[in-house]
Amino acid sequence: MSRRRQVYEGKAKILFEGPEPGTLVQYFKDDATAFNAQKKGTIVGKGVINNRISEHIMTLLGDLGVPTHFIKRLNMREQLIKQVEIMPVEVIVRNIAAGSFSKRLGVEEGTRLPRTIVELCYKSDQLGDPLVGEDVVTAMGWMSPRDLDDVMALTLRINDIMTGLFAGIGVRLIDFKLEFGRFYPNEDEVQIILADEISPDNCRLWDAKTNEKLDKDRFRRDLGGVAEAYQEIARRLGIRIDPQQVEA
Ligand code: UDP
Repeated sequence: MSRRRQVYEGKAKILFEGPEPGTLVQYFKDDATAFNAQKKGTIVGKGVINNRISEHIMTLLGDLGVPTHFIKRLNMREQLIKQVEIMPVEVIVRNIAAGSFSKRLGVEEGTRLPRTIVELCYKSDQLGDPLVGEDVVTAMGWMSPRDLDDVMALTLRINDIMTGLFAGIGVRLIDFKLEFGRFYPNEDEVQIILADEISPDNCRLWDAKTNEKLDKDRFRRDLGGVAEAYQEIARRLGIRIDPQQVEA
């Protein structure tokens, strides 16, 4: 790990130069942050679990024709990904009201929304990722109108696939966050592809029967059993993780 050149360090992941041009290695840390990094902690084994969960979901999406940055998992904490130009916009998908949506609009958590809502936020830690409209996104040049169309279409497909995946394992997909990037397969081609990760760090996942939270809200709200909840999601997805590796 230390031999490779680090190109970026985020709150939950580190990116290293990949073995070939146009590739990166994405390393999953156990670090957890919430409320714009005002709350910090460690969830033992989170990186190992999220690496596997994200691999599982990205592989399924790829098999169903959604372009993603995922190439292959390298080891317990790393995966090989395509290098993309990340667009500075977080795409939040909401099926059921929760979190900041509930607070902002006074809608009780757990209320089913009349239809899926997609919100866009400007990626800026300094500004606290403010909500922005589509016109802001295109006017500021963060996405072209065509990029935005592609992102919206991909987002709704991803939501359909993920809602079905989680329903099949007794989990309600409440909301989640996606990030997209521009990938250049060659000099005169550009493709919008799904980047980052999909895991309980950026999804709200509630048990379908009990509504128990099986995601990062357990950390944000000090509910305890955080690692156990992430493990439960992995277990239900059929992912086997050696307990020794989780603690490594
Ligand atoms: N989310 C995320 N990163 C962010 C903001 C939100 O992964 O910087 C995810 C979050 O885990 C949840 C969804 O996006 O599944 C909606 O989050 P919300 O806007 O309700 O913000 P929060 O209540 O988490 O501050």
